[in-house]
Amino acid sequence: MIKTKVLVIGSGPGGYTAAFRAADLGNEVTLIESHKTLGGVCLNVGCIPSKTLLHTAEVINEAKHANELGVTFKSPKIDIDGVRKNKEAIVSKLTGGIQALAKARKVKVITGYAKFLSKNQVALDGTDEVIEFEQCIIATGSRVTKFPMFPFEDKRVMDSTDALMLDDIPKRMLVVGGGIIGLEMATIYDALGSEITMVELGNQIIPVADKDIVTPLFKKIKKTYANVFLNTKVTKMTAAKKGIKVEFEGKDAPESDTFDKVLVAVGRTPNGLLIDAEKAGVNIDKSGFIATNNQMKTNVDNIFAIGDIVGQPMLAHKATHEAKVAAEVISGKKTGFNALTIPSVAYTDPEVAWTGKTEKELIEAGVKFDKGVFPWAASGRSLSIGRSEGVSKALFDAESGKILGMGICGNHAGDLISEATLAIEMGCDMSDIALTIHAHPTLSETTAFAAEMAEGTITDLMPPRKKK
Ligand code: NAD
Repeated sequence: MIKTKVLVIGSGPGGYTAAFRAADLGNEVTLIESHKTLGGVCLNVGCIPSKTLLHTAEVINEAKHANELGVTFKSPKIDIDGVRKNKEAIVSKLTGGIQALAKARKVKVITGYAKFLSKNQVALDGTDEVIEFEQCIIATGSRVTKFPMFPFEDKRVMDSTDALMLDDIPKRMLVVGGGIIGLEMATIYDALGSEITMVELGNQIIPVADKDIVTPLFKKIKKTYANVFLNTKVTKMTAAKKGIKVEFEGKDAPESDTFDKVLVAVGRTPNGLLIDAEKAGVNIDKSGFIATNNQMKTNVDNIFAIGDIVGQPMLAHKATHEAKVAAEVISGKKTGFNALTIPSVAYTDPEVAWTGKTEKELIEAGVKFDKGVFPWAASGRSLSIGRSEGVSKALFDAESGKILGMGICGNHAGDLISEATLAIEMGCDMSDIALTIHAHPTLSETTAFAAEMAEGTITDLMPPRKKK
């Protein structure tokens, strides 16, 4: 039997961060991972490979539009094996790096699938190996949601992991789900040459975000893709010889159509029900989520949970933050998860990012707010890079002027959103942002301009209204 002080189950961004922080704080740590490589979904089949392929897509698209700058490139010749190889090299570099960091910290890494036996023991599934622990951090993440109505047994029906394998470039591809994964994968396959049709159940793409913030992206994909069907449901999917036949229910969609490949991206399911956590006395809800307090403690005193398994949003940066809290609490530090906001980013083209409250959340909650909306068409920098379609929207409390939220659609929106995230954490008001000198000409100025639009001090456009 292996004995350890701290056991971390799962080595995604949450798990490895928890293990490393706990080790750095002087604990003896064991990390169990069922896959051969460390890094979980994010590093192996999620954030990192998708962002690598999105960069490839960006290069292709930039070259395609270079003629607007007076430079013409020939049509790109895509070597799919080369594209895949580059992606795999980046993934190996990062997963290898995590392995090396584990070794340097003397974190014991075990390959296997852990299932609880009790509140102090797990067994490695399919073996006699038992690991006894004093404290445990569950970081087992989530998996792709698979509805039985989609025939995944046919290789032409893909989930995001399959799509990232880049087996081929289908001629006609259907993307089911206009959420972040569907949109990012559609960006990649569109650039590589597939004809994309997207179907989304909701009345807008990325239904959780404000509509005006996704509009520039929506306009672009409406123009580029073969079809984008909103308010539309897939009612049936059948694998036929000449393709995947899909039946739709929606005002604008045809009754049926046949595609060479289909990507289903309709959400992820937490892995809480797969690890026998009930044998340790841990409460799990029927969806598979495990509830914790703000110290990431479950209902069982020595068992913590972090990341996708504890709830939405299922984002790597939320998991890493929670991981540090759990490791520090285990090490006796008085800390808790007190973040005021967790930013969200869709790495599409243009990117969409938001932080704090959305406008629709504020309206629903009856909060009185001021809003500043800056169209990027008035930004010198966005014009000079040929990307004037963006928009930045800042939301402020009507009385105190404190920033409540921000949404950005445009090039590098994912990088730009950090300023508003910090502003929310620091309790900044609109003058703090508007009076901060932003370097010119940068895309970051658009955040200050959005604050100036709310204040009425903008000079690069006509102010929407006058304020003292
Ligand atoms: P999602 O929940 O973000 O989006 C799924 C979309 O599918 C929704 O818009 C939903 O309305 C739609 N949908 C559901 N059932 C449908 C149906 N039958 N027909 C048509 N549309 C349907 O889920 P996702 O895009 O699969 O992403 C999963 C998780 O992974 C999310 O939590 C996401 O935030 C996270 N993720 C984040 C990033 C990032 O941070 N860039 C990237 C990838 C994934």
